[in-house]
Amino acid sequence: MFIKERLFTPGPVPLPPQVIKALGQQIIHHRTPEFTKIFLDVRKKLQKLLKTERDVILLASSGTGGMEASVLNFFRKGDRVLIINAGKFGQRWKELAETFELKVIDYEISWGKTYDKEKVLQIIGEFPDIKGIFVQQSETSTTTYHDVKFLGEVSNKLEDCILVVDGITSVGVYEVYPEELGIDVLITGSQKALMLPPGLAVVYFSEKAEKRLEKSNIPKYYFDLKKEAKKQKNGQTAYTPAINLIIALNESLSLMLDEGIENLAKRHHILAEATREAVKEIGLKLLSESPSNSATGVYSPAGINADDLRKQLLKIGFRVAGGQDHLKGKIFRIAHMGYFDFNDIIQVISGLEMALYKIGFDIEIGKGVKKAQKIILENS
Ligand SMILES: *Cc1c(COP(=O)(O)O)cnc(C)c1O
Repeated sequence: MFIKERLFTPGPVPLPPQVIKALGQQIIHHRTPEFTKIFLDVRKKLQKLLKTERDVILLASSGTGGMEASVLNFFRKGDRVLIINAGKFGQRWKELAETFELKVIDYEISWGKTYDKEKVLQIIGEFPDIKGIFVQQSETSTTTYHDVKFLGEVSNKLEDCILVVDGITSVGVYEVYPEELGIDVLITGSQKALMLPPGLAVVYFSEKAEKRLEKSNIPKYYFDLKKEAKKQKNGQTAYTPAINLIIALNESLSLMLDEGIENLAKRHHILAEATREAVKEIGLKLLSESPSNSATGVYSPAGINADDLRKQLLKIGFRVAGGQDHLKGKIFRIAHMGYFDFNDIIQVISGLEMALYKIGFDIEIGKGVKKAQKIILENS
């Protein structure tokens, strides 16, 4: 039978029609007043999204480029930093910090759990010279949410410490206002909740972080944020920008701001709750003890390989993500960030039930869908 493929992976995510339309235009030159106007519009909208008046830098790179830029620009070799390492992307912070010769305190947390506040205080007590705390607000590999406000308070009490947050799957899902949360450096990327193809990274930095730009002694060329900040204030970039992506970002930011960030966060909460409750109703177990609203990680039932289940799901029309590293074959992840509404959740839960039935899991068809419908009705 003919089947449409529906994308439910935590990056890339589906594109809204307005974005697809913007991407399908002839290119314009970037050293023109026309592009400068669009760039300054985008900058203003990003500032609105993050409720700030400060610089928000755009880089032509994937999200990891933004992560690398924040290590390069705000630290010195030998700086001691604390990494909240609770998954694949926490691990990436550690690898980046080590690559550029920072001294890493690796707070390793088992996958699916969040950090322990007491433990953080204990580490800080032992090493008051810490220059940075690195965390994912939403750790996509384990679909776990980490509270950044507490870390902001901790960081602020230290003499010279900044909080660096990977917000790649939290910006556009939650209300992420760095100035209210005590975040000094915040990164996001285009192919997650910003609803664009990959290729753009966004970096916000606080006044406190800005002072570090002068002092940083790690070699860099392309990812020089001081140089970029100067250019971008005036609507230009140091090098050729990702012109079409920036034009499309102008559209996706309008969609987000028209919905309102508070409403957008509420919608993501309802979609995530409906997914989580439906999955539990079916009899499956969630991966995370502190689940993120961007995607839901689920253990495959005993005796069923998660990747076999994913193949079944694909046959029915749903592409979901698998587990990484030691979670491979054990879990699957359903994304619900960006261009998703409640009908998408009903569909994917229905697909999951059918795939489980086909693969031989003892299931009462419709139970999960009913639960999702109930949650949505109660919350809208
Ligand atoms: C996707 C993702 C990244 C990596 O982004 P790339 O665009 O693949 O470089 C980093 N952190 C988190 C939390 C992510 O979800």
